[in-house]
Amino acid sequence: MIAAVGFKDKTIAVMGLGRTGLSAAKALLAGGAKVIVWDDNDKNREAAIKTGLTCQDLSKRDWSDIAALVLSPGIPHTHPKPHHVAKLAKAVGVPILGDTELFAMAINAIAPKDRPVIYGITGTNGKSTTTVLLTHILREGGHDAHAGGNIGTACLDLPEPHPGMIYVLELSSYQLELTQSLHCNGAILLNLSPDHLDRHGGFAGYEAAKRKIFAHQEIGDIAIISMDDTHSQSLCMNAMVQGKANVVPISAQGMLSHGISSVAGKLYESSATETKMRVDLVNAPALKGQHNGQNAAAAFAAARHAGLSVDAIATAMITFPGLAHRMETIGSFQGVRFINDSKATNADAVRQALGTFVNIFWIVGGQAKSGGLDGLQDQFGAVEKAFLIGEAQDAFARQLKGKVKAKKCGTLDNAVSQAFEAARGSGLPDPVILLSPACASFDQFADFKARGEGFRALVGGLEDSQKQKRPA
Ligand code: ADP
Repeated sequence: MIAAVGFKDKTIAVMGLGRTGLSAAKALLAGGAKVIVWDDNDKNREAAIKTGLTCQDLSKRDWSDIAALVLSPGIPHTHPKPHHVAKLAKAVGVPILGDTELFAMAINAIAPKDRPVIYGITGTNGKSTTTVLLTHILREGGHDAHAGGNIGTACLDLPEPHPGMIYVLELSSYQLELTQSLHCNGAILLNLSPDHLDRHGGFAGYEAAKRKIFAHQEIGDIAIISMDDTHSQSLCMNAMVQGKANVVPISAQGMLSHGISSVAGKLYESSATETKMRVDLVNAPALKGQHNGQNAAAAFAAARHAGLSVDAIATAMITFPGLAHRMETIGSFQGVRFINDSKATNADAVRQALGTFVNIFWIVGGQAKSGGLDGLQDQFGAVEKAFLIGEAQDAFARQLKGKVKAKKCGTLDNAVSQAFEAARGSGLPDPVILLSPACASFDQFADFKARGEGFRALVGGLEDSQKQKRPA
């Protein structure tokens, strides 16, 4: 654990007692702060009290002694409308911070020569994959690297810093929004497409949050930025003009004259004088697809900045095991392949999956994002039929009308059994049942993991029920 600094003997309120809130409360206590906590959910409060934390209702309590509010990144403080506790903090002039800011303050308090190295990774899609991939490469290359932030371990729960250590942080727009002083020695922006717009009051707010990853970069640092969408591209150009960090453009859509490109499954490194093929991703089974080319290009650039050789990086990419719920092959049964892409919670992530397979029986739906399935039309040729679930099913049926055959199924359970019947009776070669929802999961599941695990269990259930039908 990393102790919070700068709040000794001060009273700090922590609102939201999920993974990051609890970790922030512990870190603050370890740093000598007086901590009071609250959560609107009484089960979370009870759990916190059991760990010895002091719960006080922040909307009823006097705020005159509170020095700062640490807010869970999941709780809105601006859009669509601020949570009442955030509103209260603003009304009485109490600063609002996130756990990543506490982490940044703790690192900034270390003498510069002894500070660990921080690689921050953001973007609309690919953050988790790139975070885990880069950490894997750095570790295989002999570095003491630790992944955390928006994935896995909350940043303050990571091991204590020491010189030579590397933190690889997945940073969401919500986290960046609540972060002021984080200095990323390497900052990666993978891509930018509309997502979470309700929480940021529109695209400009979303982009501004993402841009904060570069805020404290200086000479000697690296900014790795995609050239594959117009928003990232203009950020990349601006960063080059500013000339603070060394800017390394990346692309998975074509060969760059300067930077790292992923072309036809190979990574190329280009400088003013030469372009060299560096890694053949054909040997890296967990890095298939154009989107993973983007992730691999980013991880390659960061690993080079960390001093790894091309050979060490290439070898580590081959052994990268990949992540569950991201275009994960669950298996094949009666000639039908099952792919779990539950983490595809927006249209741009789904685009990658629809572009990877053919003869797709597509399970899609949940809690829709703004725009729904907009922009996917050019991929519909690969879809045989869509099986719609969740709150979005009526809206999606309207969006798909006349473009893709679609059936409203309501639940994942129904969708899996109907998609299976349709796929195995289709006579198509290698039909694929793809769960790639383009939606948040919260209408029917606790999170994307529960949805993916639910899918896995249903696929297992299909196999069991077929076994039972067979004569002994
Ligand atoms: P994040 O952490 O940003 O949500 P993940 O690595 O968990 O990203 O992947 C989420 C979804 O996005 C998955 O469906 C995955 O297949 C897809 N994806 C992964 N990398 C990219 C990328 N670079 N561009 C677009 N989609 C991607």
